[in-house]
Amino acid sequence: MDDECKMAPPQIEIISREGNRLRFILRNSSVALANAIRRACISEIYTTAIDLVAVVANNTPFHDEFIVHRIAMIPLTTDKSLIPKDKCTCGSRTGCEKCAVTLTLRAEARDQPVVVYSGDIQSERDTVKPVSDKIPIIKLARGQRLVIEAYARNGLGKWHAKWQPTTVAAYKYLPIIKIYPDRCDGCGKCVSICAPKAIHIPPGKGVPEVRDLLACTTCRDCMRECPMNAIEVSWDDTSFVFTLETTGTLPPEEVLKDAIGALISKFEEFRKELEELEVK
Ligand code: SF4
Ligand code: SF4
Ligand SMILES: [Zn+2]
Repeated sequence: MDDECKMAPPQIEIISREGNRLRFILRNSSVALANAIRRACISEIYTTAIDLVAVVANNTPFHDEFIVHRIAMIPLTTDKSLIPKDKCTCGSRTGCEKCAVTLTLRAEARDQPVVVYSGDIQSERDTVKPVSDKIPIIKLARGQRLVIEAYARNGLGKWHAKWQPTTVAAYKYLPIIKIYPDRCDGCGKCVSICAPKAIHIPPGKGVPEVRDLLACTTCRDCMRECPMNAIEVSWDDTSFVFTLETTGTLPPEEVLKDAIGALISKFEEFRKELEELEVK
């Protein structure tokens, strides 16, 4: 049995949640598992995004394709009740009422120029709408008009970036900082070189202490700077500090849960196929 097999089951400890950003520590894991979770968050989650656009009117100097690309990349809130694009049997390019939501955009600049924003997009369902009203799409000059009908469907990030729910999906090893007070002369060189301010010398103390362990990038500049060999930085290669931020299409906790669910179903599928092979 190798070390990985002897490990306790992986555990997730949430550190913080701010806006659409989640930070957590994944413990008892290998790099392979941490990276599989990261990749699944980016590419194996169904989200809702505009998939097909019909340009009904466009007398602006911008090509239809340019405007359509901008519109398709506007993040929408995800409606999980929609049947994913690859699972619906309707066979329609624009989808059916079970797998697609229609969005429309009608904008015209009559007397003065008009900036068209994501908030001008109307959706037939409240559950699917732009995550922000303030994303600029195009500026219309006087007399210009844009009419668009778009069909949003559920798809995977691995098919196209518009379905990727994440803006950040990254991890690093959990740092370990050891300070040896008996060797330290309190010169403070390690503190001055530490850009993320992971260590400090508290007032009234003669030796450095860890101020913010998770801020440490494990660059080891402090070790190189220390003349007394009194500080040591390493990392726990079974623990990973994750940062997961979404576009707002789904909350980050849901992305994480769905990513783990997607990995589990892949393994189950793999196991079934192996069993079938054994029978033959
Ligand atoms: S390894 Fe780098 S980031 Fe970490 S405490 Fe040392 S200098 Fe600071
Ligand atoms: S650089 Fe070394 S000796 Fe100086 S304060 Fe830091 S740990 Fe102590
Ligand atoms: Zn359908």
